[in-house]
Amino acid sequence: MAGIYLHIPFCRQKCTYCDFVSFPNRLDVAEAYMACLIREAERRGKELENNVFESVYLGGGTPSVVDPDYIYAVMKQITKSFRLTKDPEITIELNPGTVSEKKIETYRRAGINRFSVGLQTAIDAQLAELGRIHNVQDFLYCASLLKGENFSADIMLGLKGQTKEDVRKSIEVAALGGAKHISMYALTPEDGTPIYTDYLNGELPDGDEVAELYDFGRKLLRQKGYFRYEVSNFAQKGYESRHNLNYWRRGEYIGLGVSASSFFFGKRFTNTFDLDEYMKCILSGVFPVIESETVSEQDAKFEFVMLALRTVRGLSAREYRAAFHSDWKTDFSDGYAKTRKYFAESGDRTRIRGEYLYVQNQILAEYMN
Ligand code: SF4
Repeated sequence: MAGIYLHIPFCRQKCTYCDFVSFPNRLDVAEAYMACLIREAERRGKELENNVFESVYLGGGTPSVVDPDYIYAVMKQITKSFRLTKDPEITIELNPGTVSEKKIETYRRAGINRFSVGLQTAIDAQLAELGRIHNVQDFLYCASLLKGENFSADIMLGLKGQTKEDVRKSIEVAALGGAKHISMYALTPEDGTPIYTDYLNGELPDGDEVAELYDFGRKLLRQKGYFRYEVSNFAQKGYESRHNLNYWRRGEYIGLGVSASSFFFGKRFTNTFDLDEYMKCILSGVFPVIESETVSEQDAKFEFVMLALRTVRGLSAREYRAAFHSDWKTDFSDGYAKTRKYFAESGDRTRIRGEYLYVQNQILAEYMN
């Protein structure tokens, strides 16, 4: 089954590490943009009327910065235009600095049943350094509004001066707040962002230090009942993100909104990154796609291997054979021979051993050729 992604590209201000497509000074066009999103949903829905979708994800940007009635309206269109399963997972990303009781109540009425909250760190000075608009108190307020809900918290590693104690505090705050799922991922300093200068100046922890923080966090999460199911994702039993699992299983998804990417009918395609161009295209009745390519069989095989090995579930030889009518170890015999020492194998499944999962990128590089 497939997923739907909606990109809401507005933010209050730009975080120092952010290179996502987000516009801090364009909230004035939010209403027009959301109307375009509704039109795009209507048109894509017609094209995909024979497909069933099991997840919807509203990401950004900061979806919670716009008027919640816009979110309600867009979700109404999604349920009208697309065939969803009986119990779809519908997630919205929240910035703790932008939530209110009324917003959460409107999201619930819109059918949203999962919340992804950007905590990032439970150290206020680090949040300020990252340019985040919220503090730890805001997160706790947000968590209190989400009491009993299915919600996830994001935690970042590799921040300036970050210690294991800081990671412990972040995990404890997320867990005490009631998060059922925690994403713990390493900061990637991207060229062109303010934090890149800190990276060039050697002010950020190096790869080994981040790996140590990760290992510390992984063990603590395990003790607290969060099971790793993908390199950066940990969940209490039954709370794995269905939307993300679909990506890692190479499932189809349609992306709506500026810069959104899609994978459908064996093609990967991406919408324009230009907000005004996006709206112009939609208003003129054309899809705002700027890039589209058919995935070759070789690339499809590589994607299958790469995505499956990111997960704790690992790669199923049977599923690979069903998809490609060949044996993955034969197709990737060189890569497999070089990397098999990192694997645990049982039955038809191959997994990267727990202690190596964090360095899976280096392992999977052997499969690039
Ligand atoms: S809130 Fe998210 S999308 Fe917006 S600037 Fe910060 S990191 Fe980027």
